[in-house]
Amino acid sequence: MLWVDKIAQDIEKRLSKQIKDRDHLIIRDEKTASGRVHIGSMRGVAIHGLLSFVLNERGINNKFLYEINDFDPMDGLPSYLDADVYKKYMGKRLLDVPSPDGKAKNFAEYYAREFIDVINKADFDVEFYRLSDIYKSGKMDEAIRLALENAKKIRNIYKKVSGSIKPDDWLPLNVVCESCGKIGTTKVTSFNGETVTYICQTDAVEWAQGCGHTGEISPFGGNASLPWKVEWPAKFKAMKVSIEGAGKDHCTRGGSREVANTIAKEVFNVQPPYDIPYEFFLIGGSKMSSSKGTGSSSKDISDSIPTKIFRLLMFNKKPIQTINFDPTGDTIPTLFDQYDKIADDYWSGVDSDTVRLFALIHKNKEPKERLYLPRFSIVAYLSQMPHINIQQEFENLKGSSLTKEEVVELNERIEYAQKWLSQYAPDKYVFKLQSTLPEAAKSLSNIQKEALSLLLSYVKGNKKLKGQDLHEQLHIIKESTSIDPKQFFTAIYQIFLNKESGPKAGWFLSVLNRETIIDLLEQATNIK
Ligand SMILES: [Zn+2]
Repeated sequence: MLWVDKIAQDIEKRLSKQIKDRDHLIIRDEKTASGRVHIGSMRGVAIHGLLSFVLNERGINNKFLYEINDFDPMDGLPSYLDADVYKKYMGKRLLDVPSPDGKAKNFAEYYAREFIDVINKADFDVEFYRLSDIYKSGKMDEAIRLALENAKKIRNIYKKVSGSIKPDDWLPLNVVCESCGKIGTTKVTSFNGETVTYICQTDAVEWAQGCGHTGEISPFGGNASLPWKVEWPAKFKAMKVSIEGAGKDHCTRGGSREVANTIAKEVFNVQPPYDIPYEFFLIGGSKMSSSKGTGSSSKDISDSIPTKIFRLLMFNKKPIQTINFDPTGDTIPTLFDQYDKIADDYWSGVDSDTVRLFALIHKNKEPKERLYLPRFSIVAYLSQMPHINIQQEFENLKGSSLTKEEVVELNERIEYAQKWLSQYAPDKYVFKLQSTLPEAAKSLSNIQKEALSLLLSYVKGNKKLKGQDLHEQLHIIKESTSIDPKQFFTAIYQIFLNKESGPKAGWFLSVLNRETIIDLLEQATNIK
């Protein structure tokens, strides 16, 4: 059984009462819109998004709510933004910081937009909301009151669960300073049941400077926010959350999830949601943050592969397994190969998890009839051969014309192959067909020249070059000359690609222009 079906089955059992009592279950996830969003954040979207779909399939009504957190203070700056410009906004809420492009409503909306587009392109059914709307609507007020009234209890939970010690006068609230508008610098000093007093501290945090103002204000209706380990369970309560997974870094013993769950039960009197701890999404083996530049943002990765391949990447591994994506390595061609394999399983009627996976990638609208799928690495290779009609080549390989759907598939792969070749592909996949003999091929050994002359004679004697025939011919030449195969093939790749290696030689030669083959082989063997 596929991992998501197992989770859905478990939820059906464990949440049976909620499923009966409620109109729908709430699944929730969130992202703070503090900059370009790293691909790692898509892991939660994908797990929750797929689960939501599968629960619906089972007749369990649910909504997947995704929070754009625009209420947190700006407490750090991505390297691609000008620190001098943003310095004065540090400590303000993200919704109070201007957008980098001057067009979006604010800083948070600018970065949220990009991420929302990625989620939509990945085809998840998500309802987005802004945290600011939740605070301003008063939905968090009851939790704020409970948190302030139970400040001592919360301090004890911090200490007991995570070992973190808060001073005896610490109150779990951050107020927006009425004088300078910052939220990251204020300290709440008292609560009388209706209002709080606070001071805007000048040197409490390294990343922002407060104005020294002291004031008294209502903590409700969007004037203040809870610290995040308290805010998290407050959201469980305010949004009536039934299911919410989290990255495994939060789920360690004594970690933030345990603190949040304890506060949920002991302070807010709600059951913590069903948890799905999940592993990291690595880029080329590292957690590399998106603040360091391009290549690891959710938009970069989403742009680099079609939706169905993106969904395969996200669904293929269980939540407890790490996903490693290396756009500059073999990941992209391997993903296409995996897709072709599960498609083949599906069309062959193999009864396995991959069949289910194939259906879920396509939201149960998978192509039911077998399609000829052109292998991505070959598409990538052929798209670098300017003289080639790619569709014709694949029709030769298939043995018949491509159907309309197959042409669509081919064109999609050509588009993504070209993107991959121009942005990420490792050297071994990037070819430039040589028109003159490269230096490296000018000093071949006698036995190499002897083998190549035999190849030249064969090409001259055959007007139509076919991959399989060439493959057999190369084998015959190898046997008759006793040349070391590596020496033979290296010479071929050096002559035509100025590289040490390349695609399967017989097929590779068959797609080259015959006159070019003759010309370069003549030069390499000094016949001309
Ligand atoms: Zn202030």
